[in-house]
Amino acid sequence: MSTNIVTKLPNVGTTIFTVMSALASEKGAVNLGQGFPDFNCDPALVQAVTNAMQDGLNQYPPMAGVPLLRDAIADKVEKLYGHRYDAASEITVTAGATQGILTSVLCAVHAGDEVIVIEPVYDCYVPAIELAGGIPVFVQMTVGERGYSIPWDKVAAAVTPKTRMIMVNTPHNPTGTVFDASDVQALADIVRDTDILILSDEVYEHMVYDGAPHQSLARHPELVKRSFINSSFGKTYHVTGWKVGFVAAPAAMTAEFRKVHQFNVFTVNTPVQYGLAAYMKDPAPYLDLSAFYQKKRDLFRQGLAGTRFELLPSEGTYFQCVRYDAISDLSEAEFCKWLTTEIGVAAIPVSAFYNTPKESGIVRFCFAKKDETLRLALERLARL
Ligand SMILES: *Cc1c(COP(=O)(O)O)cnc(C)c1O
Repeated sequence: MSTNIVTKLPNVGTTIFTVMSALASEKGAVNLGQGFPDFNCDPALVQAVTNAMQDGLNQYPPMAGVPLLRDAIADKVEKLYGHRYDAASEITVTAGATQGILTSVLCAVHAGDEVIVIEPVYDCYVPAIELAGGIPVFVQMTVGERGYSIPWDKVAAAVTPKTRMIMVNTPHNPTGTVFDASDVQALADIVRDTDILILSDEVYEHMVYDGAPHQSLARHPELVKRSFINSSFGKTYHVTGWKVGFVAAPAAMTAEFRKVHQFNVFTVNTPVQYGLAAYMKDPAPYLDLSAFYQKKRDLFRQGLAGTRFELLPSEGTYFQCVRYDAISDLSEAEFCKWLTTEIGVAAIPVSAFYNTPKESGIVRFCFAKKDETLRLALERLARL
């Protein structure tokens, strides 16, 4: 018997991340493709979760998350960005930022609403909009000598009476660009006197380099009133497999968020929340993260400096984008396959982050790897 299910996501198929990771393991390549650490988290964090399990904290937590953890998040956000969220009514613990983003979009975007997304764009944004019945409206970043930037005049021009939301991401995956104060100002100018909501993806909030501040929208008195701010403990604490994050938003927005959250996941696993709450008492792990990754970035960039790759800036995240036009005129996807097969290092084509075909001759490496992994990749890349 054949089914007559009609897809809601006709454009979704096997992702390039899956394809490249499979090819990397088949060829024994160093996998600098998919974005996750190849080293373990702090054993103290594992111990904190173990303690919670052994203490019997294994049943459903409150729907919005364990209060201890929500308090710890509210304290941290206030200390770093100067805005106090009410932990009871404005912070919700999510099953990673992926669920936070989907739920933010589902609760706020109605059928026929337009949502502005900036390309290159993280892969879960557009399917979330489509599931909500919304219409993605694309604005492409410009890429020049000094790397990527957002053409805010084009974002302003894309706004229509149907615009319900603008989705932004700083620090940005895949480009490694970071908002400065003028980006935040431009965004504020665009949405002032409108009903447009903002989804701010800040999962790399603790990976900003060269002493620059993270421009959380929580710092901005106007924007914080209309923003769903998403973050991820997976990125901050080297535990991408735990899938725990949070969404901070004003009470009226959080109330709508929780209506969907309640029937989407209901709750997020209890012992990990208690473990994270205990571990967050020490701010050092997140305060030291930028320095930790900046060293890896610098090691990786110094190694690449001797190759024919042209390095774009990496101001934040754990990604380094490079131009390869001095090496090859293959398409980005073909170049990544060639690099994996012939050189033994996997990367991700930036074209995978566009919905309309776009070739820039740029690929993304992830440097969230042990120094020895980075050195092995650099030895191989030095052959180029
Ligand atoms: C990893 C990532 C996410 C998803 O975070 P999870 O907590 O793993 O669901 C969201 N946005 C960006 C930009 C990411 O890189």
